[in-house]
Amino acid sequence: MDTTKGKIFIKNALSPFFRGLYQGLGQIVVLHRVIPKSSNERLRNTGIEITEEHLEELIIYFKKRNYDFISLDDLPDYLQGKMKRKFVIFTLDDGYVDNLTHAYPIFKKHNVPFTIYVTTNFPDKKAVLWWYLLEDLLLKEQRLTFNFKEENFNFNLQSYTDKEETFNYLRHFIISYEGAEQLNLIDTIFSKYSMPLYEKVEDLALNWNQIIQLNSDPLVTIAAHTVNHPSFKAISDSQLLQEVNQSVKILESRLNTPIEHFAYPFGSPVEVGGREVELMYKTKIKTSTTGRKGNIMAEHQNHMHALPRLYVGPQTTERYLNDFISGKISFVSGSKQRIVTV
Ligand SMILES: [Zn+2]
Repeated sequence: MDTTKGKIFIKNALSPFFRGLYQGLGQIVVLHRVIPKSSNERLRNTGIEITEEHLEELIIYFKKRNYDFISLDDLPDYLQGKMKRKFVIFTLDDGYVDNLTHAYPIFKKHNVPFTIYVTTNFPDKKAVLWWYLLEDLLLKEQRLTFNFKEENFNFNLQSYTDKEETFNYLRHFIISYEGAEQLNLIDTIFSKYSMPLYEKVEDLALNWNQIIQLNSDPLVTIAAHTVNHPSFKAISDSQLLQEVNQSVKILESRLNTPIEHFAYPFGSPVEVGGREVELMYKTKIKTSTTGRKGNIMAEHQNHMHALPRLYVGPQTTERYLNDFISGKISFVSGSKQRIVTV
């Protein structure tokens, strides 16, 4: 882009007309965990954790702007223009126990509906939350060694920087494997240090009684997020459909409620594209949310399996929220698309 074009582009982005086009009708917020402030030393996992105060500020932010707080079931009415006010939908991914113990009281206090996308291996306690095991292991040890596929790995963990760098390295290394091979690698690392693989899911994930309790409140929608949380790009069409349909079946039999909403695991452009969206039309799911950044437009009526969201993490500031809801993020620094799909 030459400078003149660039200037016109920026000017357009700031004009009320263009912002009106880009701000859309509302937002779907994505959170993971809501936990109390802690002074414990931590590594990278904090990116998916916000404090209770932060959640309350977020709710107040939208209240001040006269937003309607709605559930995913209300979305079609808003997209068809039956409701005139802007809307916000709160969603939490994966099924962490703090959704009940820390987020729920705040949503309840403000009468805010919310959805939890449950990975069924969480309440079935079959998920290995290796990212939390890894954090504990690296914080506690001064040196980490293991042998995998006849290669020796040796990490010095003297300083905090060593620990952070090793966390990032091993996170990528573990993610580069799938299924049984990944589990084998995880087992190799943690069993050597006598860390039980399923300890974290026992401590950090919702159990079925807690999910049933949440589901009995009309404010709460329980939705699907697969059985195993795989990257969809790495699995076949039939495996993908099996992951979705099986998780719906498990949730429906536990809760006796129709399950109609879904969030893609990971959900970035790497994991979700045209094929994945097409396949969702073969399921009974009515809405699917991604990790793409964008506001919700009336046109999303035709893209109900490619709904973008607003990611809120510990670094999300009020200024970022302003830029996001005004459409500036999608227009200037984002995809440049007005209607973000996949
Ligand atoms: Zn997830």
